[in-house]
Amino acid sequence: MTFQEMGLYPSIMKSISDLNYKTPTLIQSKVIPLVLNTDKDVIALSQTGTGKTAAYGLPLLQGIDIELHTPQVLILSPTRELCMQISEDLIDYAKYISNIKIIPVYGGASIEQQIKSIKSGVHIIVATPGRLIDLMKRKVVKLSSISTLILDEADEMLNMGFSESINTILDTLPNNRKNLLFSATMPNEIINIARKYMNNPVEITVGNKNSASANVKHIYYTVNHKDKYLALKRLLDYYIDIYGIIFCRTKLDTQHLADELTKDGFNAEPLHGDLSQAQRDVVMKKFRNGSVNLLVATDIAARGIDVDDLTHIIHYSLPDENDAYNHRSGRTGRAGKRGLSIAITNPKEIFKIRQIEKRLGIEISSEKVPTGDMVCENKLLNFVNKIENIEDNNNDIIPYLTALYGKLSYLSKDEIIKRLLSSEFNQILKYYENAIDLNENIDSYNPKSSMVNKSKNKSVNGENSDFVTLYINLGKSDGFYAAELISRLNMANKRLKFRIGEIDIYKSYTLFGIDKDNYNKIINSLNKLYFEDKKLVVKVDNTPTLDKSISKARSKRSRR
Ligand code: AMP
Repeated sequence: MTFQEMGLYPSIMKSISDLNYKTPTLIQSKVIPLVLNTDKDVIALSQTGTGKTAAYGLPLLQGIDIELHTPQVLILSPTRELCMQISEDLIDYAKYISNIKIIPVYGGASIEQQIKSIKSGVHIIVATPGRLIDLMKRKVVKLSSISTLILDEADEMLNMGFSESINTILDTLPNNRKNLLFSATMPNEIINIARKYMNNPVEITVGNKNSASANVKHIYYTVNHKDKYLALKRLLDYYIDIYGIIFCRTKLDTQHLADELTKDGFNAEPLHGDLSQAQRDVVMKKFRNGSVNLLVATDIAARGIDVDDLTHIIHYSLPDENDAYNHRSGRTGRAGKRGLSIAITNPKEIFKIRQIEKRLGIEISSEKVPTGDMVCENKLLNFVNKIENIEDNNNDIIPYLTALYGKLSYLSKDEIIKRLLSSEFNQILKYYENAIDLNENIDSYNPKSSMVNKSKNKSVNGENSDFVTLYINLGKSDGFYAAELISRLNMANKRLKFRIGEIDIYKSYTLFGIDKDNYNKIINSLNKLYFEDKKLVVKVDNTPTLDKSISKARSKRSRR
């Protein structure tokens, strides 16, 4: 369906055309008709980069009554950055709607100014939960006229500890409102919100996590722990024109790594919670305008960063939570572009990579760290390519050439090329002259045995016999992933307390563990359901324990 066929107003169609949006993204084609034509609540499993802002933004603009000078739509977002981004997008979409007022309210900025804007009349409020609560306490903002609520990046809001604030806000809103919830993952807390505050919501899933992920290639490099920094530098030299975020786990690591990179001549800035809002704004400005090409950030500081065109995400430390890996990687591969998500691991961390693969249903492939020679060759080739592509139309240089030709006449063409390249590359050639191969002499470690132990612990807290392995007739080729399974299990068994064990997703089917007290009820609940147009078939797998499925998964991987 085209935007036109969806029934969007001409004023909105005009701004879409200005933005050069030619066809709706997947999430837009699913959400826009639902919001325009029904009163249904919606839960959409999708990330930034999928076009979700327009998915809810375009139809909600259509529902605004400009004559009413009261807030009609409330959008909650986890961070100041995302809040600003959403407002800017909405303002773009509403370019041809006269007199519409969209106001972002977020912490770290003057509350007086925000109060003044709200008092002058507003149709759409885009808010971070903390600041909105503040405004509610001051009785500045009235939410009794809100007819549509949007929770954007709902899982991030919960991760950031906004659960209580969200409950307070939602309890204040009128009951007959429409609710749209967007989230990259579907943890139990989200299911609880849906249960408590939403009315029989329609669930929409775009691929696994999002179509952005489909544009991201995931790779990892394994080096000894002591060589991590060397490997990082080598990769930064190897991936020419890199524009990306390097993730560390702590503020201290972030600052330290950014300092080291700067000392070594890279164009890097840190972004972490110890910086003041003003300092963070300066860093983000430099990063957005490209004067800094590497941002070294903690997960929390990077939340809500909404920069298109990032080429790489580098996990200098792997995150503690698998979902954080997903959020990090989702910062690249946006708006139809390709991105690369790179993890630098030590041998002990390979099991974590396997866990992330399983949990997120993605493949993270192992690559060898480039040797010094490869880095130099890549740089030289790139330079030569750039020379080849320079348009030969700069006549300003001609007057100087005669003198230059005379001066260099005793040199052959080969000699001139050699000298030119040397002058450009001497430093890097020297640096990599005796560079060691970082793939050699990796500390011995048996990742497989670690993986099995971890899997057992994770699945059953050390008691595998507590779980029964179930078979479901959906696999990767159906676009079925762990997050889907978990969300369906939870939605279909809202009142049942059950435990989920290991999940192994194969091409055409999936094996997963359910505690033995509940597996019959789970089978019954799932066998009634459909996934897309396929009826689910769920039964006890003829493998009695999860051990076999784990070993199947292992042998399958080792054959790759
Ligand atoms: P979002 O997921 O809302 O953060 O959007 C990601 C990026 O995709 C933004 O830069 C949008 O401007 C862009 N975008 C959204 N919808 C479309 C579309 N239908 N066609 C092209 N670009 C789009």
